[in-house]
Amino acid sequence: MTYKPPVRDHAFLLGEVLEIDRYTDLPGFGDASMDLVSQILEEAGRFSAEVLAPLNAVGDKQGCTWKPDNTVTTPDGFKEAYKALVDGGWTALGVEQGFGGQGLPHVVNLAFSEMSSSANMAFSMYPGLTHGAYSAIRNGGSDDQKALYLPKLASGQWCGTMNLTEPHCGTDLGLLRTKAVPQGDGSYRISGQKIWISGGEHDMAENIVHLVLARIEGAPAGTRGISLFIVPKFIPDAEGRPGTRNSVFCAGLEEKMGIHGNATCVIQHEESLGWLVGEENRGLALMFVMMNEARIGVGLQGVAQAEAAYQSAAAFAKDRLQGRSLTGPKNPDGPADPIIVHPDIRRMLMDSRATIEGGRAFLFWTALQGDLAHASPDEAVRQKADDYMGLMTPVVKGFLTDRGFKVCSDSLQVHGGSGFTEHFPASQYVRDCRITLIYEGANGIQALDLVGRKLAANGGRAVMSFFAEVDAYVEANQKDADLKPFLDGLAEAKAQLQDATMWLMQNGLANPDNAGAASSDYMHLFGLTALAYMWALMAKAAQGKIAAGDADPFYAAKLAVGRYYVERMLPDTGAHLAKLKTGAASLMALPAEAF
Ligand SMILES: Cc1cc2nc3c(=O)[nH]c(=O)nc-3n(C[C@H](O)[C@H](O)[C@H](O)COP(=O)(O)OP(=O)(O)OC[C@H]3O[C@@H](n4cnc5c(N)ncnc54)[C@H](O)[C@@H]3O)c2cc1C
Repeated sequence: MTYKPPVRDHAFLLGEVLEIDRYTDLPGFGDASMDLVSQILEEAGRFSAEVLAPLNAVGDKQGCTWKPDNTVTTPDGFKEAYKALVDGGWTALGVEQGFGGQGLPHVVNLAFSEMSSSANMAFSMYPGLTHGAYSAIRNGGSDDQKALYLPKLASGQWCGTMNLTEPHCGTDLGLLRTKAVPQGDGSYRISGQKIWISGGEHDMAENIVHLVLARIEGAPAGTRGISLFIVPKFIPDAEGRPGTRNSVFCAGLEEKMGIHGNATCVIQHEESLGWLVGEENRGLALMFVMMNEARIGVGLQGVAQAEAAYQSAAAFAKDRLQGRSLTGPKNPDGPADPIIVHPDIRRMLMDSRATIEGGRAFLFWTALQGDLAHASPDEAVRQKADDYMGLMTPVVKGFLTDRGFKVCSDSLQVHGGSGFTEHFPASQYVRDCRITLIYEGANGIQALDLVGRKLAANGGRAVMSFFAEVDAYVEANQKDADLKPFLDGLAEAKAQLQDATMWLMQNGLANPDNAGAASSDYMHLFGLTALAYMWALMAKAAQGKIAAGDADPFYAAKLAVGRYYVERMLPDTGAHLAKLKTGAASLMALPAEAF
């Protein structure tokens, strides 16, 4: 089964739903005409399908290999594919021109990221983290650090990592122990062990730039005493080339459930030489630039794995002959009908498709907010977009990965027993996708971030903006009778979300366990509502084309999937609202020793 890049869907979102041609006042958008973007999407699809996808199963079966000299070898073909990625300029697509990038909008870059992640998630994590390291240094680094590191990270010549986790410290970074000792010349010696560091060591790039959280001797305990350091594997020489080998080593690789082609490393800092990024004790805030970007990237992985898994399930369902259609044979000349005739198989395929297409729209819409927040000349637009980025990031990460994994699991189910065997790719998608619910802050933590921090930020300004935007959209389109089912569904979901938000305000403060108990249902209610908005936007664009006489079946299919979403998936908002309103009582009723 070959991965088919959803180029048409990407072009529809960028050109017809988000209409990126409108934003010529933003840097990069002026150069990104839809003609050019369409060509980029075609090329991105070709690269992903032809270069990366064939290595997906290879990476899964071979995994990475660690040797006692602390080197790591990536699976066969990864090194050559990485060179092709760099030579093709793919790592530099969304990077500013000043640092060697092509300066295209982030939202366009995201389309490539989705395709490469569908084709080969383990591989695409290497450039993904590199871009995150780029953004952290871009945001907090000195001019010298930017000049030294950014062009190399932008081109992909050097790779980046994020070093946060330690054996005793995962979610709770305040427990972090890795120590940094100032050397008096602006450099620091870093000592400690980091675990589960993605891409921490490999053979694909000439240097690896670790971004490391550590505590400077004497710094306050907890999160207020954490600083961020650049620790390069090879210390750049006077010409900026990889020089002396730094004392940062990969002490081993994790055996893990999925993403075998990505090296998950134990990283030992043995008085490694590092340089402070930004101010002392302000490291966590800077690292959040990288983490927030990575969280959007992980939400994207949820959609990307779902897309790849769905494609294999749809192909299987059209091919596998079992049973007869309840309404009479559809393949009378064959021994049985293809399983796609069965409503229960359709349920799984339609759930999947509505989740993927709505989720992708939500991702792209959010990425566009990132572009607006970054570069809009209008202060009010920048502020609103920045508010949205803060509010939506935990929803994108938590909701889209929970739902993406469900799609992968349903896609395996469509395969029956074949899905559980390794003859089909279905099981790899389930295994690879599973980590997306855990890393970059487990989904429970995303839900807590949403209800605990993001809702309340700036007096609830972000969520109020969202409610107002949805209300205005529903109001403005009332006269459009064809859109009515979408608008009604959206208005009801939004009313329930608003109700849940009020409930949280009234009950969460009085008893914080109520907020914790409600958080996951609230995140799902939010995600379902956001997707209802996306489906309304997509339905409007599709209906506009049909009304103008466009007979492309793409538009009719879009409306059919959208109607399915509104009728059969959106009603789950009611269950989430009812559950969250029960509060913490029954959930916390048993004492810990009863478990
Ligand atoms: C394959 C892989 C790759 C990774 N890559 C990287 C990387 O590149 N860099 C890096 O630094 N780290 C990386 N990690 C680490 C990853 O980010 C952590 O696993 C994650 O942050 C969760 O931490 P933990 O595993 O220690 O879980 P814990 O913190 O022990 O949490 C366990 C469970 O308890 C819940 N929980 C914890 N605290 C709370 C709370 N206060 N309230 C409610 N629930 C709570 C969590 O949601 C989770 O379900 C990677 C991990 C894996 C497995």
